[in-house]
Amino acid sequence: MFTTALPQRPLTQTRDLPKDLFSAIADLKRELNAIVLAHYYQDPDIQDIADFIGDSLELSRKAANTEAEVIVFAGVHFMAETAKILNPHKLVLLPDLEAGCSLADSCPPDEFAAFKAAHPHHLVISYINCSAAIKAMSDIICTSSNAVKLVNQIPKDQPLIFAPDRNLGRYVMQQTGREMVLWQGSCMVHETFSEKKMVQLQVQYPDAEIIAHPECEPAVLRHANYIGSTSALLKYVQTSASPSFIVVTEPGIIHQMQKQTPNKQFIPAPPLNNCACNECPHMRLNTLEKLYLAMKNRQPEITLPEETRLAALRPIQRMLEMSA
Ligand code: SF4
Repeated sequence: MFTTALPQRPLTQTRDLPKDLFSAIADLKRELNAIVLAHYYQDPDIQDIADFIGDSLELSRKAANTEAEVIVFAGVHFMAETAKILNPHKLVLLPDLEAGCSLADSCPPDEFAAFKAAHPHHLVISYINCSAAIKAMSDIICTSSNAVKLVNQIPKDQPLIFAPDRNLGRYVMQQTGREMVLWQGSCMVHETFSEKKMVQLQVQYPDAEIIAHPECEPAVLRHANYIGSTSALLKYVQTSASPSFIVVTEPGIIHQMQKQTPNKQFIPAPPLNNCACNECPHMRLNTLEKLYLAMKNRQPEITLPEETRLAALRPIQRMLEMSA
């Protein structure tokens, strides 16, 4: 149970912020019995105060097993929703409720329901980067870490729908040799990488290996020396003998890569335009200040209709069992 009284009004002003946010957040963690879970694409200062940093699969596992009473999710909406699906009786906070996901948004539930109805004999395997409503219409959830492993466990004569990311779907088809019907969704960040600029960078850094996330387009992936989920990329740079890497995913991951292998060089892959669009605008909506305020105010809170939660829980549990 919480031992402190709720504040009279939500704290929203800069003047309400303590000078040392790091120690104020540490105090609130103790006071609330809270755990801060952060995705690798968060700002470095958020990664540094997190109790646990991971990719979608690791964060789901952590959310499923935590004994904390409050989960502060420094990530995007579908991730915090997944934590709530797994922990209906816990308070799940997202520092900025606007932190959505272009990939999740590319799969509207009503259109997906019609798509599914048009393929009545297909089993639906959905990437965790989707809304609770899509999860509720799915048979199995997967992440980029376990998608190949899970598809390989499904009988070969079972027709499959893969949603919502077409690039990850294509990559899984290639790795498993399975045909799947793909929902045509994509991530605005991973589709922004320029093949041409990446090749130019490779000429500039001939010793660097290209490492890429499977949400990237095939034209980019075909240049990669290694393809994997964010955690797999992080592990790979520790074991590879290469002194430098061109990193083709959201550059937030470079903070951990640099911390774990400070003697290696990491070059973020360039986007198509001279913009910062390789940084996820949704992930970057969270800030240390918003995280502090969310804990102090105990909002914004993630809530879900119980019927949706129960329907979405089933395919997540199936994933956790199948990937154990
Ligand atoms: S990087 Fe892409 S998939 Fe990940 S949260 Fe941002 S928009 Fe969604």
